Amino acid sequence: MVDYSKLHPETQLVQGGINRSGFGETSEALFLTQGFVYPDAEAAEARFKGEEPGFIYSRYANPTVDMFEKRMCLLEGAEDARATASGMAAVSAALLCQLEAGDHIVAARQLFGSCRWVVETLAPKYGIETTLIDGTKTEEWEAACRPNTKVFFFESPTNPTLALIDIAAVAQIAKAKGITTVIDNVFATPILQKPLELGIDVVCYSATKHIDGQGRCLGGIVLSSKAWINEKLHDYFRHTGPSMSPFNAWTLLKGLETLSLRVERQTASAGKIADWLADQNAIEKVLYPGRDDHPQAALAKKQMAGGSTMICFELKGGKDAAFAFENALEIIRISNNLGDAKSLITHPTTTTHKNLTEEARVEQGIMPGSVRLSIGLEHPDDLIADLDRALGI
Ligand SMILES: *Cc1c(COP(=O)(O)O)cnc(C)c1O
Repeated sequence: MVDYSKLHPETQLVQGGINRSGFGETSEALFLTQGFVYPDAEAAEARFKGEEPGFIYSRYANPTVDMFEKRMCLLEGAEDARATASGMAAVSAALLCQLEAGDHIVAARQLFGSCRWVVETLAPKYGIETTLIDGTKTEEWEAACRPNTKVFFFESPTNPTLALIDIAAVAQIAKAKGITTVIDNVFATPILQKPLELGIDVVCYSATKHIDGQGRCLGGIVLSSKAWINEKLHDYFRHTGPSMSPFNAWTLLKGLETLSLRVERQTASAGKIADWLADQNAIEKVLYPGRDDHPQAALAKKQMAGGSTMICFELKGGKDAAFAFENALEIIRISNNLGDAKSLITHPTTTTHKNLTEEARVEQGIMPGSVRLSIGLEHPDDLIADLDRALGI
């Protein structure tokens, strides 16, 4: 038996976690079944008691979903995982499964909108207090702690301005106080950033983004130690039912096969395009973690293996200029999705971040002229030509 944990990500992504049926199929089998039959009543009893391995019900576990979870564990270096129906199912399960009334969360305010709603609006309804801080300032994590602080939650790079949070430093503060750290690693991808190696306890993904990478289905996953999954997530997951569909797991297994190829190509193109954008007169500012003029370039080099597939930039002329520019693009399409094979652009002020106050947006560097660009698999020269033409209009 090959030990895939010792092999490279490229090999894990293609071969890891495969559990072949008696037919010996090359491609992963799609087990589109809700339940499983038992050879006899004794076997059913033994399986329910946990004395015999085997599947019971697809809300708990399913062979295709299991292959996806095992492949992701190999890639992330995690002991165990639970795949979910969406990225938000993963984040809300990872947080709520371990919190109770009277607990306190510290979270970076630079969060994906729905993540911010979970900590800022939903959690307080259940008696869980939340403090939002500027996550890029490491000292604010320490200062926000209270005796009842149970969880630190953040993403890095942040959406949409690609600011970075010092993952190892935040994890260290949490460890010293017995606080559990949860990271949403979507923007970095498991190819460019390994939070568990930096001391993080729980990693969440929206698999909808780079892991599918071809705009087909929703999915998510929570990865951690065996102990944390068993003690905190196991029962919550079984009884609240955020499970991933086997069909989506199968699609995402196919996505994983090309994940490293896509992320590496998209990152290389993004670097080239960010450099080109920085030279254009119509552009006020480019934010890209792979560039030396990024405010946290040194931290990017320390905790990321590449500059990201995303670029944020600000057009001179505010919202009108941003809208005229977006409308003039022909190859790059307007969409709030990201990590896709197709290049996509969005205007955060009027879409993904419209619910924040103007003041909160400016605080995060989201200006009326800011746009967020997700670089796809098209040839970078064709994308630059599209951007060039649209900037000239
Ligand atoms: C998209 C996204 C989510 C939510 O994922 P869904 O699959 O849409 O539920 C969470 N966090 C970040 C950073 C995202 O980009």
